[in-house]
Amino acid sequence: MKPVIALVGRPNVGKSTLFNRCTKTRDAIVADFAGLTRDRHYGDGRMGKREYIVIDTGGFEPTAETGIIKEMAKQTRQAVAEADAVIFVVDVRAGLSAQDHDIASYLRTTGKKVLLAVNKAEGMRDAPALAEFYELGMGEPIPVSAAHGQGIRSLIELALEGF
Ligand code: GDP
Ligand code: MG
Repeated sequence: MKPVIALVGRPNVGKSTLFNRCTKTRDAIVADFAGLTRDRHYGDGRMGKREYIVIDTGGFEPTAETGIIKEMAKQTRQAVAEADAVIFVVDVRAGLSAQDHDIASYLRTTGKKVLLAVNKAEGMRDAPALAEFYELGMGEPIPVSAAHGQGIRSLIELALEGF
């Protein structure tokens, strides 16, 4: 069985861009507007000889109670349930938000292995901007740039560790 990695986060943080990076495709639609991916989207990833499955998800609002947002949250919970590891994606340029806190709280209840990827951090390896993300209680924030392909390899290595 290939390990399964789910990409989770609020809209527009770069989940689909990261998915494309992992699968080396343009299958996931990258958008400048929020919430385009409404269901779950599977792809094959490979790092050296290691193969894995990656799941892209829509923007996640764990507290959504109605409509399409609720359906998206359901899809995301399903992706998390199927995953061996979750990459929780946040956006260093937008900073920490209440929705990020809601997602962190939800992920904690699942008991899944979670890695905190701080995206859009091109050229920001040890930037002070990363520090606020410790507040999420999801361990060390891992700076990455999905768009520029920075930090992705070590992120995936950490996600696959132990599987
Ligand atoms: P999603 O809604 O989480 O799937 O986010 P998308 O992958 O659709 O990306 C949302 C926007 O962020 C797009 O305009 C992307 O080009 C941009 N983006 C994604 N990754 C990066 C990154 O590493 N750096 C920067 N500067 N922009 C990024
Ligand atoms: Mg997307």
